[in-house]
Amino acid sequence: MDPIEQHLSYDPDEMVALDRKYLWHHLMPHKVFETVEPMIVVEGDGLMIKDARGREFLDCVSGAVWCVNVGYGRESIARAVYEQLRVMPYYAGTAGNIPAIKFAAKLAEFLPRLDKVFYSNSGSEANEKAFKMVRQYWRLQGKDRYKILFRNRDYHGTTIAALSATGQAERKAEYGPFVPGFVEFPHCMCYRCAFGQSYPGCNLECAKSLEKVILDEGPDTVGAIIIEPITAGGGIIVPVPEYYPALQEICRKYGVLMIMDEVVCGFGRTGNMFGHLHYDVDPDIVTMAKGTASSYMPLSVTMAKGELFERFLNDPSEKLAYFRDISTYGGCAGSCIAALESTRIIEEEKLCENSQTMGARLLDGLNSLLGLPQVGDVRAKGLFAGVELVKDKKTKQPVEESYLAKVAADIAGQGVLVGKANRSNPGLNNIITFAPALVATEQQIDRMVGALQTALVRNTDF
Ligand code: PLP
Repeated sequence: MDPIEQHLSYDPDEMVALDRKYLWHHLMPHKVFETVEPMIVVEGDGLMIKDARGREFLDCVSGAVWCVNVGYGRESIARAVYEQLRVMPYYAGTAGNIPAIKFAAKLAEFLPRLDKVFYSNSGSEANEKAFKMVRQYWRLQGKDRYKILFRNRDYHGTTIAALSATGQAERKAEYGPFVPGFVEFPHCMCYRCAFGQSYPGCNLECAKSLEKVILDEGPDTVGAIIIEPITAGGGIIVPVPEYYPALQEICRKYGVLMIMDEVVCGFGRTGNMFGHLHYDVDPDIVTMAKGTASSYMPLSVTMAKGELFERFLNDPSEKLAYFRDISTYGGCAGSCIAALESTRIIEEEKLCENSQTMGARLLDGLNSLLGLPQVGDVRAKGLFAGVELVKDKKTKQPVEESYLAKVAADIAGQGVLVGKANRSNPGLNNIITFAPALVATEQQIDRMVGALQTALVRNTDF
């Protein structure tokens, strides 16, 4: 047999046995695989995936972690990568390569206020690069503004510094001690307002609280804040329109830089090419991953403003004069050509527009479930939605994580895969999430809403 055919072939029973023996699955409690068979995904087309047992599922979370933005089965991305690898598979980012240059120029078209692209491989790494750029940017000006402020409920990655910048206590619990210099400020979720207020008429206390944290820490020690435009894993939190302008005003007052983490929201997820474009805000650094190449290949980006980059243009013989950083695979030609092709598909097939129209249908459908006793809140932007389940609508007491798991399992039993908050925020892991590929159809949207409704109606023990 041809060796490639051999790599692709499998016997389901053998694969399950080898999976159980050798794989350490991400995020999963391994004990469950003693009784439950691990899922082995073998094929995908659009929003549909098939497992090694031949079962088909409607994937409402784009590869479980919100990243296959253009959907499965894109021959043209596979072909682009194949053609590129044949002629030039790899050379380090010390040199340019054709797709890396073209994709950087494309990003500058989308975000004209930012003009330098540094490539790496994952969202965590893109944020790490941003932290390093910020610290060195200030040191190049003789200032030690090393602190990075992050928001409660936001997530910025799995590496120790990115986790240090994460506002999800449960997720962090086992992995300290953390890196010094990362400080939390309050979240901006209206449903559970940290200040007991209701919008409008709240004076945007959530945004204003940033100023107090900057003053408490000492403005001359604070280099930047990092935020997700719409908080993803922390509960699909869509800030009110005035929030980012208010946050930006405070940052500008104290000369604090703004890092916008577009790892989830980027590339059409929220109905715009980037999530922050829904707001009147002008970040200094934007990070991207996941949807960058629709996860057909790994690629992340840290994109900085020209003013920031120019600080690094010093006589190279000086100490710390330039950004002495690398990521071995970052910007490799195969990933960049996948990103170019994925982005071409998003533009040509008008997938941002589809994200808006199908997102509106998803939101309408989910809002229609607000009459159910355990549906406390529905939040969405584009094809990105969360449904918060509560035991009691008045007190907003969250359901137990075990109930959420039961609902998600019921939905999976209907052949539909949704996301769920998972060991992130203590006592607040009560949110079912949707982030389908941007090619979702009306019929698929209706099926996802219907599956959730069925599960909620028949699981009343919350
Ligand atoms: N930033 C955000 C907002 C994320 O949701 C994630 C991952 O889910 C990351 C960063 C980290 O990305 P990666 O897992 O590619 O390191």
